Amino acid sequence: MKRIAVLTSGGDAPGMNAAIRAVVRTGVDRGWEVFGVSRGYLGLVTDNMMPLGARDVSNIIQQGGTMLNSSRCPEFRTEDGRLKALGSLRRRGIDALIVIGGGGSQTGAYALSQMDYPVVGVASTIDNDLYGSEITIGVDTALNIALEAIDRLKVTASSHQRAFLVEVMGRDCGYLALMAGIAGGAELVIIPEVKTDPEIVAGELRDAYKRGKGHALIVVAEGAQYNAQKLAHYFQKHHERLGFDLRVTTLGHVQRGGAPGAFDRLLGTRLGAAATACLSEGRDGVLVGRVGEVTKATPLAEVVSSKKPLDVGLLDLARVLAK
Ligand code: ADP
Repeated sequence: MKRIAVLTSGGDAPGMNAAIRAVVRTGVDRGWEVFGVSRGYLGLVTDNMMPLGARDVSNIIQQGGTMLNSSRCPEFRTEDGRLKALGSLRRRGIDALIVIGGGGSQTGAYALSQMDYPVVGVASTIDNDLYGSEITIGVDTALNIALEAIDRLKVTASSHQRAFLVEVMGRDCGYLALMAGIAGGAELVIIPEVKTDPEIVAGELRDAYKRGKGHALIVVAEGAQYNAQKLAHYFQKHHERLGFDLRVTTLGHVQRGGAPGAFDRLLGTRLGAAATACLSEGRDGVLVGRVGEVTKATPLAEVVSSKKPLDVGLLDLARVLAK
């Protein structure tokens, strides 16, 4: 191995910079040249990359986002686009690629590895929906940002005896909502994995007030069948009968941009270093992630064909704790 490239793709996540830094510095330490690709797969398709030395990744470990920038690149989903990407890598004599990103990005990594090109993935998404890593880069920081907002909303909800609805990110996965709901002491958590009926939500709110609660805080995942907007609309439409108003706060991209906490800096560093270690051992076509207390490489074929289960039993715990 002489030359490798690294890119960040899909949704950005706090801690991606720590992973880039670790890839560059452990690569340089192995005597390799490392190229940084701009804007994910788009940079491969358009041959937009530059060599990165140890000093080029100074002062980024504490920053959110990604110094390489990211993008969504529809062209890479086509074989033609992937052939262009391969052409850029081969023309520059780059022997292997490290892809830092979530489920979509790792599907792209798998497609490239199927074309006989060595690729190693690094598990990074705030959604925590990626098989092969119990926790992915960015989740912890995003969760803490969501919690900060929930804590503040609880203060104002208590002062005004109101019901607040907080929508958190996570795409089709309820992990962030469930964990933020439990850690934030929410009265109710709504996730895509479990069907919700607005009438049941209303019933639970009524019960909470009967139990003497001065406020109600509902955490809802953006991918839930009834997301914040739909729930609020339903409650508005049936206001007279239901007797509640729901104040909606959608956290959206605010959750992504924070400075990575210690956990994500360490996870990004560990996984970035593990990715170059894999390549140096001649292992590719794998995703490096964290399983239990260890860093583990899982074949990309298994990663893209498996679904990470969510412990929905925690929803019952959330319900009990809201009593
Ligand atoms: P994330 O990696 O955060 O899940 P996306 O799902 O948006 O983000 O995927 C990021 C990029 O990965 C896409 O824009 C595309 O370039 C690439 N990608 C996603 N799915 C595939 C696929 N099935 N085949 C090839 N490339 C893909």
